[in-house]
Amino acid sequence: MINNLKKMIEQSVSPFHTIDTVKRILSENDFKELQIGEDFKLESMGKYYIDIYDSSLIAFTVGKNIKGGIRLTSSHTDFPCFKIKPNAVIFAENNSGSGYVKINTEVYGGPILNTWLDRPLSAAGRLVIKGTDTANPFDNKTILIDAKKPVLIIPNLAIHMNREVNKGVELNRQKDMLPITACNIKKTKDVIELLFSDKLKELAIKSEDVLDYELYVYNLDEGSIVGIDESMYSSPRLDNLTSVFAQTNALINADRDNGLNIAMYFDNEEIGSRTKQGAASDISLLIMEKIYEGLGMTRNEMINDLLDGMMLSIDVAHAIHPNSPEKSDPTNHVMLNKGMVIKISASQSYSNDALGIAAISRICSENNIEYQKFVNKSDMPGGQTLGAVSSTVLPVRTIDIGIPLLSMHSSRELMGIKDEKNLEKFLTVYYS
Ligand SMILES: [Zn+2]
Repeated sequence: MINNLKKMIEQSVSPFHTIDTVKRILSENDFKELQIGEDFKLESMGKYYIDIYDSSLIAFTVGKNIKGGIRLTSSHTDFPCFKIKPNAVIFAENNSGSGYVKINTEVYGGPILNTWLDRPLSAAGRLVIKGTDTANPFDNKTILIDAKKPVLIIPNLAIHMNREVNKGVELNRQKDMLPITACNIKKTKDVIELLFSDKLKELAIKSEDVLDYELYVYNLDEGSIVGIDESMYSSPRLDNLTSVFAQTNALINADRDNGLNIAMYFDNEEIGSRTKQGAASDISLLIMEKIYEGLGMTRNEMINDLLDGMMLSIDVAHAIHPNSPEKSDPTNHVMLNKGMVIKISASQSYSNDALGIAAISRICSENNIEYQKFVNKSDMPGGQTLGAVSSTVLPVRTIDIGIPLLSMHSSRELMGIKDEKNLEKFLTVYYS
């Protein structure tokens, strides 16, 4: 299991790459791609997926009997990192007229900034390549690109230049967080040529044909199993590829005769989900309508199924911290390797209701699956995730679940290996 998760994390280096990875796994398991702009022609026992703007996706399976209700899951494809700006190349001149080459970035989501210092970093995302139809400015194609090498690094300031560093340092996002990529090289203003020259050659693309880009800086660190008991896994991007991984495997391996199993993967959770491909978009509802239409079912049947259905919003949760236990709720302690987590909040920043939780607890106890409950400490606001957002678009009973993590939003996060197995088993039973 952990090797497959490691592989998925290594391949999912931008939201576009996450979707590319999920599509490849689904295709290998006989799922057929449907085009978002075409009518869907669906059959019972069919397995399908729809790519949404390259960074979100909805996959589903149809039972032998198409009637029988829906079971939904959702997760997110993005992660906190840095996004490369336009005109990104900065030549930091020194006295001799040459110097470091820096890349101008902005912060994406809420990373713990200092965890990005002194690490081998790489860059990946998508390029838009000029099409051949000169009369049509919309005739352009996108390609995915990944430098796959440590082409970037953000160096720390030496302790001798900042004696107060161990008292805590505020890092400025524009000044302190820019990665360097070279020293004393020939000036090129083109960030694509600078970071991806090998790849452009490999793909036979001229840099003048690259019209625009969406590129992210990612942590190239390899994941590693840690602990004398080998019970933990430390890796970049556990938030939220652990959920994407479990959700995809469960959809593939579940065995259900009736109704629809649907897995939704949304981009932009880390920046609030309010984009065309985010969970706050109507896209999930529009695609649900197309699925029901494609199955020859009415809109009314869809509404009835939604009101009767269930959605699990899967995202990571906070485990109690060994050195700062006072930051957690006094009576609900979530531990690594003690099972998946149901997230509960009076403000409904985590979606939950007692009937949904009751159903989950029954599935768990009947299948020997460990689970824990998380609530925020009352004087800490905590986070928000997909459940509250997507359940306002699809008004279906929604519960937020996920595996517990330490170091959430660090460039390297820590999980319990048993919890991931637990989550995947739970989701497979849920879908079956
Ligand atoms: Zn997350």
